[in-house]
Amino acid sequence: MAQLFPKKNPEAAKKLLETPDEKLTNVERDKKFALAIATTPMPCPMCFVKMSVIDAADDTLEVGGGDYNGTYVCPNCETELAKVVPFFMVPGTPGWHWQRKHPVPGKKMDNDRRNVSLQELEVLVAEHDTVTLLVTRAQRRIDLGVHIVVPEQLQLVTSVRLSAYLQAHGWTIDEAGSDDKHRTWRKSDGRVCYTHAEGDAEVMAGDVESVALSEGCSMLRVLVGLLALGPLT
Ligand SMILES: [Zn+2]
Repeated sequence: MAQLFPKKNPEAAKKLLETPDEKLTNVERDKKFALAIATTPMPCPMCFVKMSVIDAADDTLEVGGGDYNGTYVCPNCETELAKVVPFFMVPGTPGWHWQRKHPVPGKKMDNDRRNVSLQELEVLVAEHDTVTLLVTRAQRRIDLGVHIVVPEQLQLVTSVRLSAYLQAHGWTIDEAGSDDKHRTWRKSDGRVCYTHAEGDAEVMAGDVESVALSEGCSMLRVLVGLLALGPLT
């Protein structure tokens, strides 16, 4: 089967989608499946108009072919988009969704606020998903078979950053309750939380949950606080 460029040749794409599977070769069937996913409309995060990968791509997009080097642009609001494949399949979606390619420019930052790079935001999202999934798994609310992708090394949720966060939020180390591996933190109103001096993603997830419970906020709020501490180094 020849290369298929749905935007250059919509007729061929339409014909493939309409051909019953039994009349296709295995290669054509794979291409039909890829085409069906690429023609599933998903909402633009800016204007909410639904559009498919093919709608947003230019005519160099080849279905089932090599890498696509063009851009994705919402035909309605002209925002440049990125196709994002989440860590786990979200039921009822084609396995991907749209996200802005570039962050919305913020107001001029003063000393307390700073611009966050797209890379930092990606780290935040990745680690939030990891932390949430790990805690959920620990609570056994989901199948153990669910595939969880854990970043090799966490950059945002580290014990150093968590300690800096706690200190900035008025927590102090309770030396009597701390040793080489564990730290007990106290606040003047009597609240207590616990962290580890170091640990893998699962341990850090537990620490973030402990901090969130003690602070009475969401885990995402804690992660945003970690991000606000400054550059990830
Ligand atoms: Zn749009």
